[in-house]
Amino acid sequence: MIATKGYAAQNVETDLAPWNFERREVGQHDVLMEILYCGVCHTDLHQINNDWFPGIFPMVPGHEIVGRVTRVGAEVTKFKVGDLGGVGVMVDSCRTCNECNKGLEHFCAVSPVQTYNSLGKDGAPTYGGYANNIVTQADFVHHISSKLNLPGVAPLLCAGITTYSPLRKWKVGKGHKLAVIGLGGLGHMGVKFGIAFGAEVTVLSTSEAKREDAKKLGAHHFVVTTNAKELASVKGTFDFILDTVSAKHDLALYINLLKIQGVLICVGAPAEPYELHAFALMTGNKVIAGSGAGGLPQTQEMLDFCAEHNIVSDIEIIDIKDIHPAFDRMVKGNVRYRFVIDMATLK
Ligand code: NAP
Ligand code: ZN
Repeated sequence: MIATKGYAAQNVETDLAPWNFERREVGQHDVLMEILYCGVCHTDLHQINNDWFPGIFPMVPGHEIVGRVTRVGAEVTKFKVGDLGGVGVMVDSCRTCNECNKGLEHFCAVSPVQTYNSLGKDGAPTYGGYANNIVTQADFVHHISSKLNLPGVAPLLCAGITTYSPLRKWKVGKGHKLAVIGLGGLGHMGVKFGIAFGAEVTVLSTSEAKREDAKKLGAHHFVVTTNAKELASVKGTFDFILDTVSAKHDLALYINLLKIQGVLICVGAPAEPYELHAFALMTGNKVIAGSGAGGLPQTQEMLDFCAEHNIVSDIEIIDIKDIHPAFDRMVKGNVRYRFVIDMATLK
């Protein structure tokens, strides 16, 4: 077994704190990576708080992982020692079901395994990236371009693919008006991809303080959603809305901003279910869609796209001991725009 240092919540009541545990030995198809940086996704907080379902504790969160390969299994040809690698939200799947065959391993119908808060095929809990190393099947590790700023790449593994994937599915691009609700970790990546794909992008934010930043990110317009007049000015104007909000909010308010036949894509995952009257959709043939992360081929495609277009996340690097103050700031919408843990601070 491989000795590992991490930060874990021992149960839903306790804060994250240092915890030593063991990873499995490096199997024939596995790689061992030294984790250099790990992004802090709002999902990490939802999961340690049991917002969605009872979690598996102790829980080591973290699914925006970048690091360096330090050992490879005998059958691994994809990586060699010294290569950079990235791990996102999943670490295993059956690889044979219809979904896996379509490159949708994250929707594997047989044995999907999440990076943490999940059980591996061996029945053992998985532990995430708030740690100094990880052992993962090489197929679930992505190549990272050395041209990009490495800590800024970490959030691409979740926030990046989660926003890239639906914009590609709905073919959002030139001639489309796209709004992004919530300028946080996911939201700012949605803005970057929307612009890169040629859409006219509006940020819908509760935070007036983010107006200048939105402009710097390249957004064409900025609307403070608490200002009724500003909101009314964009009624019925968007082809697509990407909803990245992490907390309860009124969907009907935003659906009202769609053009006829417009699509609102939910990627944010508040703890409470949405409430919506059917009329909000029937009037104007509106569509609500959802999207979860992305499969292996599309995650690599997104990373390659980012390398080609020099796209990384805007980040604030933190010491792992400051994880709870960082969570508190994230809940207040006060993160510009993703916290990334420097794993050297774990030593
Ligand atoms: P984040 O960095 O905290 O950003 C969320 C943003 O939503 C905030 O910055 C804030 O932006 C806005 N917001 C917060 N509370 C709001 C409220 N009550 N009403 C309106 N807007 C509000 O979080 P994140 O890491 O981007 O994650 C966002 C959500 O996506 C989380 O629920 C997370 O679990 C989920 N997620 C889903 C997937 C997936 O596969 N679909 C993957 C990763 C994460 P403003 O200040 O601009 O208003
Ligand atoms: Zn995430």
